Amino acid sequence: MAKLTGKCLCGNVTFSADTDIKLMANCHCSDCRAATGAAYGTLVFVEADALTVTGSPKVFKHVADSGADMEKHFCPDCGSQLFGKNSNRPNMVSLRAGVVDQTDLIKPAVNVYMSSKIPSTPIDPDLKGFEKMPG
Ligand SMILES: [Zn+2]
Ligand SMILES: [Zn+2]
Repeated sequence: MAKLTGKCLCGNVTFSADTDIKLMANCHCSDCRAATGAAYGTLVFVEADALTVTGSPKVFKHVADSGADMEKHFCPDCGSQLFGKNSNRPNMVSLRAGVVDQTDLIKPAVNVYMSSKIPSTPIDPDLKGFEKMPG
């Protein structure tokens, strides 16, 4: 079992999850790019039940192009994105890799939404790439 911890930029919101990582993906969709302000978002999926949060993240809800209801949980004080939920995967949360302390554990396996990536974003040729979200 991996012990995962993380916090936002100001430290008012922290989380921990004593669980294994199910999947890691670099997501190049325009929602992740807008939400993170980065060239892409790296999502670290863990079981929702395993996540413990301290502080009071604010939740932004929107609908993805898949039709799924999405939630983005972020610190209301500093704006850091911490994790998200997707109604198509109700038992999972996706931690944002940039706020996870255990950086050695961050090893994305796939690139998704390659169709909407920023053209100059470098891509590891050893990783599988998908035009959209597989499955
Ligand atoms: Zn904060
Ligand atoms: Zn995305």
